[in-house]
Amino acid sequence: MLSVFCSPSRYTQGPNATVSLGEEIVKLGLEGPALIIAGKSAISLLSEVWQSSLRAAGLRYSVFQFGGECSSSEIERAKTAARQSETRIVIGAGGGKVLDTARAVAADLKLPVVNCPTVASSDAPCSALSVVYTDEGVFHEYRIYGRNPDLVLVDTEVIARSPARLLVAGMGDALATWFEAKVCSDSNVRNMRGGASTRSALALAELCYKTLLADGVDALQALQSHTVTPALDRLVEANTLLSGLGFESSGLAAAHAIHNGLTAAAETHSFFHGEKVAFGVLVQLMLESKAPEVVEQVLDFSTSVGLPVTFSDIGLAAPGPEALEQIARRATAKGETIHNEPFPVTAEIVIDALREADEAGEDWKRRHRRTMSI
Ligand SMILES: [Zn+2]
Repeated sequence: MLSVFCSPSRYTQGPNATVSLGEEIVKLGLEGPALIIAGKSAISLLSEVWQSSLRAAGLRYSVFQFGGECSSSEIERAKTAARQSETRIVIGAGGGKVLDTARAVAADLKLPVVNCPTVASSDAPCSALSVVYTDEGVFHEYRIYGRNPDLVLVDTEVIARSPARLLVAGMGDALATWFEAKVCSDSNVRNMRGGASTRSALALAELCYKTLLADGVDALQALQSHTVTPALDRLVEANTLLSGLGFESSGLAAAHAIHNGLTAAAETHSFFHGEKVAFGVLVQLMLESKAPEVVEQVLDFSTSVGLPVTFSDIGLAAPGPEALEQIARRATAKGETIHNEPFPVTAEIVIDALREADEAGEDWKRRHRRTMSI
């Protein structure tokens, strides 16, 4: 098997990076008209900057307001808008689902794509795939494309104004990267691009984990005061670039499959991708019977930034055997990344690992409640 490493053609990050959007597109030799697929808040926050930046670069554009879910029907709706405006470049601006939709539209229409995340809530912006859900929000499929985005542009001033919970969710997604990448590399399984992992991808995944541990808490505080500090800047890069390159060029394992399993429980729908992934990391550690120090480090980190560590933290109050079985069956479906683990994974052992993860989280909370009350 050949080793394959993929990345966007260009990654641009910094305060007020949106001002340079038009210039950055022109530097890549791309031409309009552009279709900007954007969420409501991105439109109200950025439309004036888009106008001045894209006009100055001589790019015509129109805006398509995103309907809220990255589903097949929403992708088709956006494709119709792109055809009507004779679009030659697709720009996604908003959260993960907006960008997933923009990549799907661009891939179907064979157009270049620019991703401008307005939150650092997942590692999707740099990837060449979309996670597609049903209109009801249940995980449906991964769509994998031939090319990564042409440009990923991250405006840290915009991120600094995003809700804290979304930055934390991004940390949850990034928390999985090192653990899943290591499994895939050790097992020598195919990464998301169909090749073996590289030392480069694994090193980026490890740097991602180290950056979370070092900067997670400080970055969260910076975001809460809407300030772009060096810690927030590094953390945004970890959530977006390091995690994105790490997962795609090394691969996914149990944590993301558990996430997909959790989407089968309606109670978890109000929780973000990264929040469910963070609980999935704990489940993966249980499946792998990881050393207590490793579990403790993850529990310390997750609780320090407010990521879920128990069933009740992700909306599942005392789930019964049927609910757990439904989650485990979905997580172990044929083709799921949980089968990248170096041992056979059945629904039965996933049910046990789900319970153990919840117990470990509850135990952490009990111990620290006691410490706090002393
Ligand atoms: Zn993810």
